[in-house]
Amino acid sequence: MTVPFLNLNAAYEEVSQQIESAALNALRSGCFIGGPEVGNFETLFAAYCQADHAVSVANGLEALEIALHAFDIGPGDEVIVPTNTFIATWFAVARRGATIVPVEPDAETYNITVEAVAESLTTKTRAVIPVHLYGQPADIDGLMALAEERNLIVIEDAAQCHGARCRGQRIGATAHAATWSFYPSKNLGAFGDGGAITTNDTVAAERMRLLRNYGSNQKYVHDLAGTNSRLDPIQAAMLAVKLPLLDEWNMRRQKVADLYLTGLSDTNLILPKVADWATPVWHLFVVRHPERENLMNALRDRGVDTLIHYPIPPHRQSAFAHLGFERGRFPISEQLAQDVFSLPMGPHLHLEHVERVILAFKELVA
Ligand SMILES: *Cc1c(COP(=O)(O)O)cnc(C)c1O
Repeated sequence: MTVPFLNLNAAYEEVSQQIESAALNALRSGCFIGGPEVGNFETLFAAYCQADHAVSVANGLEALEIALHAFDIGPGDEVIVPTNTFIATWFAVARRGATIVPVEPDAETYNITVEAVAESLTTKTRAVIPVHLYGQPADIDGLMALAEERNLIVIEDAAQCHGARCRGQRIGATAHAATWSFYPSKNLGAFGDGGAITTNDTVAAERMRLLRNYGSNQKYVHDLAGTNSRLDPIQAAMLAVKLPLLDEWNMRRQKVADLYLTGLSDTNLILPKVADWATPVWHLFVVRHPERENLMNALRDRGVDTLIHYPIPPHRQSAFAHLGFERGRFPISEQLAQDVFSLPMGPHLHLEHVERVILAFKELVA
């Protein structure tokens, strides 16, 4: 028996008929940029996030970049980002020409905390980008209280938490903006690239709509130095088919997580901790062990695929060598990079596969 890390084919097969007819409809509409499919998905996604606006874009990286741009964040501004994240969070700040100010995560939840952000504020801090990492919400209410007091913009990197809740409130409408990726492996994934920004700020939403479309809302009239970052109508039509399934698919992930949490509780693995105010959506199920490499190899021998999220923190990547963050500067994220690994997780993981993973561990780390 082999246990795949994530089975995207099974996700496609479950909805293939509706997906194919949605794609065909979009093709036959004759509208290949923008149009009703895009508008319809934006309306549905805004409603799902309980936000006033959803502005679709081409991917999650550009969602972040456009959100920062919409709030005029650029050179001379400091932006606080987590040390433990996918590198897109850092790239978006770098591409705006703003200054990256890394903050270490909490060692138990892997998310940044209000206290750590408060300690990193200077007179130049303009914005904070909390990442709801691995599908677990960061304390967005606490961050918004700090932001109000210190006049900061908060942009949530929500690429891993479609459907998650913080104190009962769906992620996507609490901060100044939340940015989303519909990369195929995300909880709400397209069949190609896609992204969006949700916000309750009507002025910012209007700027985002301009920025994604060459700074223009009237052909050949350009009000802002924008970019080209649009969600294509075929992807929008397919996302509109998948969105109504998101809660059900997240519940299946919760079921897998519950089995892991119970089944692995008496091993020496460090399991994820969930704050009592958090409703996670288990984008990834990340565990820690000092003998990670040996365990991953032994699991592979038993047919179980695992991955590392992430093996090298952004500050140790060559792309950011010029920032001069030496080894040891951010010890929590460096330690996580040494000992985290992710177990198979997804809405199409068979429960007998989950049992297989648990059994394999019990043989290895009992
Ligand atoms: C996937 C992801 C992104 C970027 O999304 P793309 O659509 O691949 O550009 C940004 N931030 C985080 C935390 C992600 O996981």
